[in-house]
Amino acid sequence: MNKSYQSLLEFSRDLYALRSAVGVLSWDQETMMPAKGGEGRARSMASLSRVMHQRFSEPRLLEALEACASGEGLSEEERVVVREMRRDRDKAVKVPEALAAEIAETVSLSQRVWAEARPKNDTAAFNPWLAKVVSLRRREAECLGYAETPYDALLDNYEPGARTSYLRKLLNDLKAELVPLLGKLMDAQGKAASPLDGKSFPVADQRLFNMKILKAMGFDLEAGRLDESAHPFTEGLHPEDVRLTTRYSETDLMSALFSTLHEGGHGIYEQGFQPRWFGTPMAEAVSLGVHESQSRLWENQVGRSRDFWSCYYPSLQGMFPKQLGEVDLGAFLKAINRVQPSLIRVEADEVTYNLHIVLRFELETALFGGELEPAGLEAAWNEGMRRNLGVAPEKPSMGYMQDVHWSCGLLGYFPTYTLGNLRAAQLFDAAQRAMPSLKSDIRSGSFGALKAWLNAEVHQSGRCYDGDTLMEKVTGSKTSAAPFLGYLKEKYGALYGIGL
Ligand code: MG
Repeated sequence: MNKSYQSLLEFSRDLYALRSAVGVLSWDQETMMPAKGGEGRARSMASLSRVMHQRFSEPRLLEALEACASGEGLSEEERVVVREMRRDRDKAVKVPEALAAEIAETVSLSQRVWAEARPKNDTAAFNPWLAKVVSLRRREAECLGYAETPYDALLDNYEPGARTSYLRKLLNDLKAELVPLLGKLMDAQGKAASPLDGKSFPVADQRLFNMKILKAMGFDLEAGRLDESAHPFTEGLHPEDVRLTTRYSETDLMSALFSTLHEGGHGIYEQGFQPRWFGTPMAEAVSLGVHESQSRLWENQVGRSRDFWSCYYPSLQGMFPKQLGEVDLGAFLKAINRVQPSLIRVEADEVTYNLHIVLRFELETALFGGELEPAGLEAAWNEGMRRNLGVAPEKPSMGYMQDVHWSCGLLGYFPTYTLGNLRAAQLFDAAQRAMPSLKSDIRSGSFGALKAWLNAEVHQSGRCYDGDTLMEKVTGSKTSAAPFLGYLKEKYGALYGIGL
């Protein structure tokens, strides 16, 4: 094998190992670490991150990349490894070390200010920090470079190749359809209370049921674990060591279940790479927007469907006979698919969720572009909520201060949630075309063919394609809102017996 390529591979595997070590520290911090461990942990993680950053500046990396640049003698996949390592290296070295350190320190302080200011609705404490974070990200974008507008540079951190103009159109078109659909569904649904409310579901039983679902999905529990944390997440330390968490609530049966299905989807992606590429970009996810499509597909297209619960509802009822014995499948499906405009994004249903994202995208692009100042955010937020969802918060903790993202500088991140939702529906459509028995498989609790299809079509190509190229290759078209809207109309039309 080409010697320069060999040294690139060693470099990549070494970096991957370091990242994995940071991952263990981060997973442990969220699941096991005692309360006083925070300061020491932050120091360890910062040291390792610095080592990783320094690695990218090593001359031997640039030399090896240049030697492999022509691609001569390399396979198609090996060229992807070279291309993506070049991309990672260039991004890392374009931002001067002093600016990177200033950003890291500022976002860490800003997040702490946010955590204290949010419960007190202390906008005066938080806003100046938000302004600082935004201005640092602007400087960073100028260093990184961009295709059309500086916000493109931020998007590119999470969704390589995405453009602001493209997302703006996609999200505007989606909003134009969702707002009237929401109105129709609110009318059809009426005001009936959920038959799941006011009941208690022992957590020990919930744990058993969650494990049963996770195993059925095909998540390999010898190459991963399910634990508990305040905010569910997935940490892929290695394709053979994938950590998931969920969160149980005695009064909310579905919260843990949907989190487990969601994180299970992320986990199956992390376990789905080809072993021979472990430790290289060919065994890494394309983008956040593709990652989220994998979690949402299992959570929503599978886990909120009549087919899935035709199979699993009897055993759920069997586990909770007192609570669910009198609730039939139809009532249960209406309850778990209930549409309700609400203030909090993470609690939103499938119809309203993307309207929360559209608002965040509109506001953060305005903030970033300087058309909106943090002081004007509360009023702009409330107005946008009223316009899109018909509800508005009384205090910023339920409004623009609810999410952690802006406090820690994650601008350009929110749109990937919607990309994930749209792509989940689009991929599920393609899976159905490829496997006519998909729905009957789901009705019989058999997910092997779906998992194998996702492995082959999405996971095994690693970072070979960007998000839209992958969608085009697998589904025949770029990311589009049409399959998602079609999915909602079909599901809710059937649920309420109405035409949409
Ligand atoms: Mg997710």
